[in-house]
Amino acid sequence: MELRITEIFLSIQGESSHAGRPCSFVRLTGCPMRCVWCDSEYTFTGGEKITFEEIFSKLEAFGCRLVEVTGGEPLAQKDVFPFITELCDRGYEVLIETGGYVSTENVDPRASIILDVKCPASGEAERNYWPNLGRLRPEMDEVKFVVADLNDWKFAKRTIEKYGLTERTKEILVSPVHGIDLVQIAENVVRSGLPVRLNLQLHKFIWGPDARGV
Ligand code: SF4
Repeated sequence: MELRITEIFLSIQGESSHAGRPCSFVRLTGCPMRCVWCDSEYTFTGGEKITFEEIFSKLEAFGCRLVEVTGGEPLAQKDVFPFITELCDRGYEVLIETGGYVSTENVDPRASIILDVKCPASGEAERNYWPNLGRLRPEMDEVKFVVADLNDWKFAKRTIEKYGLTERTKEILVSPVHGIDLVQIAENVVRSGLPVRLNLQLHKFIWGPDARGV
């Protein structure tokens, strides 16, 4: 079996509760969404078909036990599901970063889900697949709101309350779009009293916002 891949690399996990940890990334090609602030448009097309065995040999060479499967939208390729299972079988700690449009139902339960909920300024909030929120597990899954403005932050707060996300998740991530006023979002997070984590994209501060393969 094979997957269409944009890049495979070893870096620092820039986001989530795992931020700062060395991590291997498998970035799949293609995404059915078109978020206006998307920072990985280069994954929409192209890529290269790579067999599972080739991917595993690259990961083995990196020697890192934490692997994130990302995109694009990683769950849009049907063969990703057996790939995730094989990663788990091989003993990797597996993170799945998904845009929230595709069902997470068939993801191996040993993998942790980091589920984006698209906010209004993304232009894609209508395409959130809400049943995914019902599958989140408090011991290992995380939910992420990328916020571009205060209206997005208000939407995030309403969604957290409506779906009881503080009880359903290990972590709620509030991730400002790179380049917006961080102080305004940070102050709102502080004042909210909500148990959320301000999620800055560490890799962009280290290598710059446009660097690829980091
Ligand atoms: S879901 Fe992710 S990859 Fe797809 S358009 Fe949105 S930000 Fe980009």
